[in-house]
Amino acid sequence: SQPWLSKQDVLQLRTKHFLKSVSVSYANTGGLMILKGNGSRLYDERGTSYLDTRNNVCHVGHCNPRVVDAVSRQLAELNTNTRYLHPTVIRLAQRLADKCPDPLQVVVFVNSGSEANDLALRLARAYTKSKNTIVVEGAYHGHTLAVLEVSPYKYQHSKEFDLQLQEEETTKGPVTTPGPHIWQVPCPDMYRQRHNTGKEYANHVQDGCDYFQRKGESTGAIIMEGGMSVGGVILPSDDFVRDSVTAVRNHGGVYIADEVQTGFGRLGSSFWAFQHGNHGIVPDIVTVGKPFGNGMSLGAVVTTPEIAKAFDSMGVEYFNTFGGNPVAAAAGMAMFDVLEDEKLQEHALQIGGYLKKRFWEIQTERLHQDLIGDIRGSGLFLGIDIVESSTLRTPAAAKTSFICSRLKQQYNILTSIDGLYDNVLVIKPPMVFSKEDADFFVESFSKVALELEELGATVETMEWTPT
Ligand code: PMP
Repeated sequence: SQPWLSKQDVLQLRTKHFLKSVSVSYANTGGLMILKGNGSRLYDERGTSYLDTRNNVCHVGHCNPRVVDAVSRQLAELNTNTRYLHPTVIRLAQRLADKCPDPLQVVVFVNSGSEANDLALRLARAYTKSKNTIVVEGAYHGHTLAVLEVSPYKYQHSKEFDLQLQEEETTKGPVTTPGPHIWQVPCPDMYRQRHNTGKEYANHVQDGCDYFQRKGESTGAIIMEGGMSVGGVILPSDDFVRDSVTAVRNHGGVYIADEVQTGFGRLGSSFWAFQHGNHGIVPDIVTVGKPFGNGMSLGAVVTTPEIAKAFDSMGVEYFNTFGGNPVAAAAGMAMFDVLEDEKLQEHALQIGGYLKKRFWEIQTERLHQDLIGDIRGSGLFLGIDIVESSTLRTPAAAKTSFICSRLKQQYNILTSIDGLYDNVLVIKPPMVFSKEDADFFVESFSKVALELEELGATVETMEWTPT
């Protein structure tokens, strides 16, 4: 059916009624009006089909019919809050807890990743009596005031914060954070190495704990992702995780694992990114969001009975009007059903492995050696690190931007860019992404890369740059 406003009308009304800081993807080519979705495909107002390589929210596919059906039926029956007893809501809590290793078993439902991390910080503070937090360079944990403070990706660039110099110099220069209770450590990137081992990276975490201790304080928490997404698909090494968490725990703190991007089997190798590798470390608090409701607002915090008890003893009721309502819970249950019935974690491992293999093939066999520096990640959480030179590993932000624009313009493929230097093509599609989708993506990428080489010019002079 025809939209009741044209794309131009929508754009124009946005300029009046939306903040400018609410950005539009592909703005310089007029943005995209997306009106339909199906599996790994999105459709604009003219019915043009786009391959979606970036949406990790519609986890089991855009408009998955089983999710749509479960949500519609529940919406027709009842939607209220968690103060009433409801079987679907508690079953979902049980199902989520069953997916977490012991002793993670207490679940709190929220509406988003930001809310989940916000509550995680409150839980950590209630338990440790400390708000001192260790954060990882480049990380993003959400948009509330509290979580912005632990999100270097945002605070580093915002005038909203009165940034203070941290007592640590890195090779990149001075580090600033929103206050003395935040200690920022370098992203444990083993490709563009500042250090050769995870252990050396973990020393920065130890430095943070020592810094708090010098002030006579303990450490409250370390918050990190098992796969750093906005950081550019960095999977922390076993020794980094082990040593960092041990240092934090030795100083009284807890480990908050942010699984908002990476949870629910995306990495293929394990259900949670915090389980990737062999470090065997179990977090104290886990936060989930994006994929949980397959597009419905549903997030959660999972924690231990001990931490839950500390929070309960604060004497404040936790009430969240929409959090874990039966309609969102129905979406969560259906998402779990499809994930399991269609074995999408295994599928992610297989297709992700295939995609990685194909990218390495074009990297070595074709002309892209000096364009693709690294191909990393696991399952359907992959990063293609675009460089000026493979030997120097110089990030090529403008080329990455060019590739993304051309993939959309020429091949109707939607991609995303992340990483500390805006040069990592991040692949995190709906988990139903097929082998044919993977082939089409690699072949299109390859053609755009050839185009880049033929142009031979510095891409800074080119006109296509998506936001
Ligand atoms: N944590 C991570 C790792 C995220 O990537 C995001 C969102 N991109 C959030 C938390 C915040 O989630 P939300 O936008 O649902 O509030």
